[in-house]
Amino acid sequence: MDFTIEQIERYSRQIVLKEIGGIGQKKLLDSKITIIGCGGLGSPAAYYLTAAGIGSIKIVDFDVVELSNLHRQILHFNNDLNKKKTQSAYEKLHKLNPDVNIEVVNEILLPDNIKEILKDSDFVIDGSDNIPTKMLINDACVNLDIPFSIAGVIRFNGQIITVNPQEKTACYRCVFGDITEHEPSMSCSQAGVIGLIPGIVGCIQANEAIKYVLKLGDLITNRILFLDLLKYRFSFIKVVRNENCLACGDQAIDLVETHEYNIGDVCFE
Ligand SMILES: [Zn+2]
Repeated sequence: MDFTIEQIERYSRQIVLKEIGGIGQKKLLDSKITIIGCGGLGSPAAYYLTAAGIGSIKIVDFDVVELSNLHRQILHFNNDLNKKKTQSAYEKLHKLNPDVNIEVVNEILLPDNIKEILKDSDFVIDGSDNIPTKMLINDACVNLDIPFSIAGVIRFNGQIITVNPQEKTACYRCVFGDITEHEPSMSCSQAGVIGLIPGIVGCIQANEAIKYVLKLGDLITNRILFLDLLKYRFSFIKVVRNENCLACGDQAIDLVETHEYNIGDVCFE
């Protein structure tokens, strides 16, 4: 295995894990993960995946840093106000680990560009804050056969589901269906969010990505993990694939090409 001396030292605490070893570290260095949004969820996910030595990380965001972001979006510092989030993220992540190829895409994710942006990813992390974007990510990833993790946070609560289209696990659309994407959902600016809930949830999403790449343990597939930090209740709810699902079912169609997503003036959580 062709590690540099610096890589062996940098990743030594991972390489020593029997579940990872040199072979696993090489797999991480050869993998490519896309993170949609470098906000509350994307920040911790990007930090830990960069530190772990994922070879290529693509970060997609179009927003600029605002003061009200800083209590949870820990990629961005006070002197980054008004800077593009992708630029701010790149600066921190490159400093953390120059070994990692950080690619930034400063675009709004839309049906027109999503497949091109995601197509070469091994795993996708959703850090968006609205259901239409989550549905779009779901439909594109299912269509492209790319595993992904979708999460949501609000107040002291979080929820996470991982979908592996290669194993036909239940997708986000199977669970939440078409109806929800047309209902207005409460945003964090209206309902509030404690800063560390996206921190914890984003870390779990990064863990899902690493576990998928390394084929380790159990992913959060065919179930949703709910976290309640007020009561410290961490619980799973089982979900099942809907065989009539338009994204992943037996008669699935390419929704990215045909569906109206209603993506309005959105921001990434
Ligand atoms: Zn489905």
